[in-house]
Amino acid sequence: MAPSDTRHPHTRGYGMASARSRERLIERLAATGTFDPRVLEAMKAVPRHEFVDEAMASRAYDDSALPIGHGQTISQPTIVAEMTTLAIAGMEDTTVSDQVLEIGTGSGYQAAVLAELGASVVTMERVEPLYRLSRARLARLGYRRVEARLASQDVVGLPSRAPFKHIVVTAGADHFPTELFEQLADGGCMILPLAAEGGQRLYRIRRDGHTAVREVHDAVSFVPLIQS
Ligand code: SAH
Repeated sequence: MAPSDTRHPHTRGYGMASARSRERLIERLAATGTFDPRVLEAMKAVPRHEFVDEAMASRAYDDSALPIGHGQTISQPTIVAEMTTLAIAGMEDTTVSDQVLEIGTGSGYQAAVLAELGASVVTMERVEPLYRLSRARLARLGYRRVEARLASQDVVGLPSRAPFKHIVVTAGADHFPTELFEQLADGGCMILPLAAEGGQRLYRIRRDGHTAVREVHDAVSFVPLIQS
C-alpha cells in the first residue's frame, strides 16, 4: 500500500509531521496487544488530522476524543480501534465489500476506517451541518465506499435498506434500540455503547432470530444517541 499522504493528494499542510505522529499513535495502540492488526493498518492509512478543525490538527494524534462542533466529538482512537476490532470479528473477509450501517457520522473518521478495511459503509448523521461537512470531507479524501446520508428526525437507522449484517453505533443509547435491532440481518452484529448499571458500556449484540445475544465490553463515554 502506498503511503497515505500520496493516496490522499488533497491533504492539508502538516504532512510529514502528521505521518510520524500517526505512526507513533498506532504503535502505542499496537503495544496494548488488544486490537486486530488489520484495524491498526487501516487507522494508519486515515489522516485523522483531516477530520478535525484545523486549529485542533496538532492534537489529532493524541489518544483522545476531540470536539467537532455542535456539542459532538470525534471518538478517541483507542475506542475506534476497539469498536472496529469488534465489528470486523464478524466479517469473513474484509477485502470483499461487506455493508456496514454506521449511526453517527460525526467527523466521518470511523466511516473512513471501516472503508479502509474494505467495507462499504452507509453512514447516517442527524445534525445537518456535520452531515454536510463530513460528506464533503469524505469525498475530498477519496472515500468512495462511504455513502453519507442525513438521518431522518423520526427514524433511527435506514429501514428501507435493511437488513444489514453489521451495524456500528457511535453514539450512546440510553435504552436498547429495538428499531436498529430490527434492521440487523439474522446472524448479524451490532456494536454500540449502551447505558448499563454503573455507566455506559460497549456491547456487541448478535441477532439470532428474534433473540438479541449480548456481549458486554469496556466502559465508554459517548455523546447521546437520539432515540425515538
Ligand atoms: N463516528 C464519529 C463520532 C460520532 S459522535 C466520528 O468518527 O467522528 C456521535 C454522532 O452521532 C453525533 O454527530 C450525533 O449528532 C450523531 N447522532 C446522534 N443520534 C443520532 C441518530 N439517531 N441518527 C444519526 N446520528 C445521530
